[in-house]
Amino acid sequence: MDIGNTWKDCLDFIEKKVGKSTYDLWFKPIKLVELKDNDALLSVPNRFFREWIEDNYPRLISDAFEWAAKDNINVQFKIDQEPAADYVSVVTQTRKTRLAVKGIFLNPKYTFDTFVVGPSNQFVHAAALAVSDSLGKTYNPLFIYGDVGLGKTHIITAIGNKIADTLPNANIIYVSSEQFTNEVVSAIRHEKMSDLKEKYRTVDILLLDDVQFIANKTQTQVEFFHTFNALYEKQKQIVISSDRPPKELSDITDRLKSRFTMGLIADIQPPSVELKMAILQKKAETHKIILPDDMVYFLATKVKSNIRELEGCLIKLAAHSNLTGRPINVSLAKDVLKDIFTDESKPVTTDSIQKVVCEYFGVKLPDLKSKKRTKEIALPRQIAMYITKKLTGLSLGDIGKAFGGKDHATVIYACKQIEAKMEKDEEFNKMAEYLINKIKP
Ligand code: ADP
Ligand code: MG
Repeated sequence: MDIGNTWKDCLDFIEKKVGKSTYDLWFKPIKLVELKDNDALLSVPNRFFREWIEDNYPRLISDAFEWAAKDNINVQFKIDQEPAADYVSVVTQTRKTRLAVKGIFLNPKYTFDTFVVGPSNQFVHAAALAVSDSLGKTYNPLFIYGDVGLGKTHIITAIGNKIADTLPNANIIYVSSEQFTNEVVSAIRHEKMSDLKEKYRTVDILLLDDVQFIANKTQTQVEFFHTFNALYEKQKQIVISSDRPPKELSDITDRLKSRFTMGLIADIQPPSVELKMAILQKKAETHKIILPDDMVYFLATKVKSNIRELEGCLIKLAAHSNLTGRPINVSLAKDVLKDIFTDESKPVTTDSIQKVVCEYFGVKLPDLKSKKRTKEIALPRQIAMYITKKLTGLSLGDIGKAFGGKDHATVIYACKQIEAKMEKDEEFNKMAEYLINKIKP
């Protein structure tokens, strides 16, 4: 196997998945140091790169290797600049290993200790604490909902981590509804349904993340319904997260939705500026990032609502400050965080949408407006049309015109295609939301 070429193929694969700007910023600087047997050693410029990639794209590089080398490859990172492992990562790694031995996979960083409480999330926080203090007895199920990036995964994982500490023998499962669906599909195909039942119906606590993705998946819903009942009867704890309240979940059966409302429903609201500032300070402290007070305020007001985005900006700044030796200040922010410096009074235009989408997918504007129907072009075009429909007041006919004179039926078709994909595919949904957030003033 030619190492250089394998890595080049991996990078191509990654660029296609994440888009050019993310690729240039985060993946291009990575080098393959060694590829031996089934182990790959990659070098990244500093620890922020590793952290950012592990948090945002935990499986992407292994997927890329699997695609390029047709084999399962173990990926390890080596950090160019800082040889010494910092304390935080040692602690979290230890916890991760300890839990993995028991077959529990929880992100060790998401604990109650690292969750900053403010008015927008204190209700959820209190409910989550109450649940972890008396499993299955206070609120069952606990149903948590809120917009993307506001801390749902963090808080439900914190429950799991706390139980793992206080009840070492507890059987805990954290699963996203996508993964649950995959397991159901695979169990059906390999006639292993009874194993699946055994696995899920014997837990002490089931944490089901992003339940909205089981919409339309009938068999998964049936299986989850029976799992739910079995656990509920045994007073085992169920915690569910969702991007919307139960009654707004379309294409989920009524009997399941009514189960979701049997316990407590708690929502997470977008954070206030003060909470955002507190979160930034805490994250900066944990990551040992020197973040001046004026920058705390600056970022908290610039980044509108999403905490993931807020954290992403901080890590981006730290990564590039570390790489270039420049201090974290407004001037660095202007260079590194171009996305958040859009003029807020400006309305969204088709031009700006097309520009962002072209940049993201690395396609040329004339191609986007052309009649070409290859997948590489048709998909970005459909997404751009969908976003234009969503964010501008333009008529379908005008949207068609702005895309090189297409008719309104083409625009409707594009929007339907994209909506269907967003319903079905979590990764796709995230990508579309990311683009929309990037374009929105
Ligand atoms: P969701 O699942 O709702 O999309 P996440 O739980 O993944 O959001 O949170 C996004 C990021 O924001 C995570 O890195 C998480 O640690 C962080 N975060 C969210 N809420 C808080 C909070 N209250 N305190 C500290 N970090 C938070
Ligand atoms: Mg989540």
